[in-house]
Amino acid sequence: MKTLIIGSGPAGYTAAIYASRSGLEPVLYEGNLPGGQLTQTTEVDNFPGYPEGTTGNELMEDLRAQAERLGADIRMGVVTKVNFSLDGTSPHHVTVDDGTELDTDTIIISTGASAKYLGLDDEKKYAGMGVSACATCDGFFYRKKTVAVVGGGDTACEEAQYLATLCKKVYMIVRRDVLRASEAMQRKVRETDNIEILWNTQVRGLYGTDGVEGAHLSTGQDLAIDGLFLAIGHHPNSDIFRPAIECDAEGYIKVKHPTTETNIPGVFACGDVADPIYRQAISAAGSGCHAAMDAHRYLMNKG
Ligand SMILES: Cc1cc2nc3c(=O)[nH]c(=O)nc-3n(C[C@H](O)[C@H](O)[C@H](O)COP(=O)(O)OP(=O)(O)OC[C@H]3O[C@@H](n4cnc5c(N)ncnc54)[C@H](O)[C@@H]3O)c2cc1C
Repeated sequence: MKTLIIGSGPAGYTAAIYASRSGLEPVLYEGNLPGGQLTQTTEVDNFPGYPEGTTGNELMEDLRAQAERLGADIRMGVVTKVNFSLDGTSPHHVTVDDGTELDTDTIIISTGASAKYLGLDDEKKYAGMGVSACATCDGFFYRKKTVAVVGGGDTACEEAQYLATLCKKVYMIVRRDVLRASEAMQRKVRETDNIEILWNTQVRGLYGTDGVEGAHLSTGQDLAIDGLFLAIGHHPNSDIFRPAIECDAEGYIKVKHPTTETNIPGVFACGDVADPIYRQAISAAGSGCHAAMDAHRYLMNKG
């Protein structure tokens, strides 16, 4: 096999589209979340090409259909193990959860990253109905409304500031009595009039009839909000590739920018699993294109 793609989010399907068109005859394993993270949301308003917006499911079905039409072999299954050929002289050996074993000259890793949640039942109950883990994605739907951001690190401060430009009021719910964010970031938060920090506070639950109307707090108070944004980190799905594949301290796969090359010849990484910064569908799709082109170039150079 020339190219194996692991993951079926925007990065994986876009890699499949490009790899199919350049004759790499890719096989793609979907994993246990076919279509990736966008299938967990309702409206998607910021993916180019949909003037009226679309839904996460529709967008991912379109990408899948396009990859299939061009010849990608899309299979159900989770990759459980990879024995990498560290010098690129022999194929990489891959195991799938149904027992399939296969050899491939190149691998495109597009396994995404999972947002961390608090673990409350109410987060699932109100998913897409007031609970979000991405201010850039969903902030627009809360213009002139009141929201809360959970977390005290740089990401939480950045998300709070972004939301403060759109929303009437932003609460930051911080577990401790300090922010973990950089001093510069903390200063910006303090200087933003419509951000209020609730120290030593945790969310215990949510309430609302057709969506979030408020949060029950550990202080005993009920806080009226229209949306709750989690900003307590992400977990890149890179565990099965480590330690052979080099990752940063948080587990994001390191690539040789501006390419998608990893430290192992013939292995490329794209999308959220290699992106601690942007984590958007369009940037994932863009890097999926790069990964397929990098894989093609690698095989051409190898002859
Ligand atoms: C609720 C929510 C709403 C969002 N809204 C927006 C939005 O409006 N606009 C926007 O641009 N972005 C949005 N995002 C972010 C966007 O979804 C991600 O940036 C994007 O999906 C990342 O794409 P990806 O292909 O890197 O990975 P993912 O979409 O995370 O897909 C990863 C894929 O890898 C597969 N996989 C994982 N491990 C294995 C394995 N071992 N074997 C095989 N397959 C595996 C999974 O099954 C999955 O198919 C949202 C995210 C969430 C969670």
